[in-house]
Amino acid sequence: MEAAFCVLCGHGLMTVVDGGRERPGCPACGHVVYSNPVPVAMVLARAAEDQLLLVKRGVEPLKGFWAPPSGYVEMDETVEQAAVREALEETGMEVALDGLEGVFSAAGLGIVLVVYTGRVTGGCLAPASEAEDARLVDPRDLPSERAFSNGTELERWFAALLARFIGAPSLRQGATSSPVNAACAGAVPGERGREDWHRG
Ligand SMILES: [Zn+2]
Repeated sequence: MEAAFCVLCGHGLMTVVDGGRERPGCPACGHVVYSNPVPVAMVLARAAEDQLLLVKRGVEPLKGFWAPPSGYVEMDETVEQAAVREALEETGMEVALDGLEGVFSAAGLGIVLVVYTGRVTGGCLAPASEAEDARLVDPRDLPSERAFSNGTELERWFAALLARFIGAPSLRQGATSSPVNAACAGAVPGERGREDWHRG
């Protein structure tokens, strides 16, 4: 929902033309309200034996689905740092980035998803933040019973990307493997983070 009043001076917003587009703007102070997609960082972090670090998403979009860790980039960090931080917050695992898998976006969805490849370098599986669960999974062990075809445009777009990254069209159940280092038993879940990149 768009704001009705100027955040700087409180005057009612009107429609102004800026940069060849109509945007909400303030006739009193000249403030223009821009609407731009925000960056979200994701990492496809692999471990030994072709295992991929996945979380069971605890928030929409695709709540209950398995997906690589991801989250919004904060103002005081790089996109790469955000990818590493989100993996640690959501799974308890430390990851190192190896390269860029790709940059993915769709008009109107509000996000730009920056996806890195990487590897697990340490840590203990301890799902926290917005993740209901976190595991190291061989993607071939995930079920692939059906494609995700209902839901919002954002959900369908995200599901298609997950299928591309993970190789399973539906990830709502399954994810059976998760050999946890014995040294990690009883590990304390990590610090709880902010809500995931779904903003209503
Ligand atoms: Zn104003």
